[in-house]
Amino acid sequence: MVPILEHTPAELRDWFVQQGLPGYRAGQVRKWLFQKRAATFDEMTDLATELRKQLSEQFQIWTTHVAQHRQAADGTEKLLLQLHDGEQIECVLLRDDKQHCTVCISTQVGCAMGCAFCATGLDGAIRNLTTGEILEQILQLQRLLGPPGKMGTGPEPSRTGARMTSSGEVPVPILPERLSHVVVMGMGEPLLNLDALLPALAAATSRDGLGISVRRITISTVGLPASIRRLAQANCQYHLAVSLHAAEDALRNELVPANRGFGIAAVLAAADEYFQLTGRRVTFEYVLLAGVNDQAEHARQLTRLLRGRPALVNLIPYNPVPGLPYRTPSPAATAQFVEILTAGGLNVNIRHRKGDRISAACGQLRRGERGTGD
Ligand code: SAH
Ligand code: SF4
Repeated sequence: MVPILEHTPAELRDWFVQQGLPGYRAGQVRKWLFQKRAATFDEMTDLATELRKQLSEQFQIWTTHVAQHRQAADGTEKLLLQLHDGEQIECVLLRDDKQHCTVCISTQVGCAMGCAFCATGLDGAIRNLTTGEILEQILQLQRLLGPPGKMGTGPEPSRTGARMTSSGEVPVPILPERLSHVVVMGMGEPLLNLDALLPALAAATSRDGLGISVRRITISTVGLPASIRRLAQANCQYHLAVSLHAAEDALRNELVPANRGFGIAAVLAAADEYFQLTGRRVTFEYVLLAGVNDQAEHARQLTRLLRGRPALVNLIPYNPVPGLPYRTPSPAATAQFVEILTAGGLNVNIRHRKGDRISAACGQLRRGERGTGD
């Protein structure tokens, strides 16, 4: 059976035409998959019974199954998905305090980049994910959201927006949770799998797909200059985040071994080109490791390096990974780091830690369930 999510819209249309059916039926099927969250062809009730049967004989919707589902008190949910070949990947649903939801998705089983502080890199890279496997993570996570536009009598004002009337009994519309952002920050190095990633993101952003704005898609990379250029030339307007972690080569070589092949100057030149070609401001991520890269001197180096660039610095206090020697800086050390960058004129964000109790925070994703437990 063919996984239907591996097909481009044009390929799916061709299949319908080959069956002697109108090509627009492909759009109807895609709408069911992406917007109406159908889990089976049988649910696609505006298609003839015979066609639904034909589709289910020819195609499969799901190639993964949920091996584990964990939920944190802050609304973060993490799925461990088992792939058809037995490999496992993780993906995460993050909720903000309104109705907006972000999915964090993986692009590879493991990662070959071997960054010193990252759980994913500990076991190396096994393989790239396919377009369908990347999309399936988004659809599996989307199914965790409340159904679109549901009516209910929510007993309390919940994070999904249920509001009680004064009597507390009259049904009121629950504002639906909406998948609004995608961050490609899960397992793997996305720029080493662009051939599979770009069609998946095209489906996520197209109108008959998930309809997510291109500006709400972030691709996070270890900073591979040639691939950043390729992405810039594709001019798809996604938000690019470059994981920097150090402002001088000796330290970056140690923390991010891939840096030895090209150096920081080449990473920044490629990031500048990304901005020039797309007009999109690049974010630089910086994991703060106590005593390693979080000192005042490091902050000053980073300020000198990035000053004058239309950049945003995203500081990520280290999320502990069992077996690794690093420590999270104290709030005071983090505050001092922020202060130096801000005084130097940089725009700075601190990434709030979400889902760390279920090992769903940045850098805590790995193939098995061996991260920090509850
Ligand atoms: N491979 C890509 C995307 C996945 S990693 C990249 O490196 O950018 C996503 C982010 O999590 C990166 O910025 C990465 O540096 C960060 N990260 C990795 N391990 C971490 C840890 N233990 N604590 C905090 N952030 C971590
Ligand atoms: Fe790979 Fe990113 Fe982890 Fe580095 S931080 S090992 S590039 S997943």
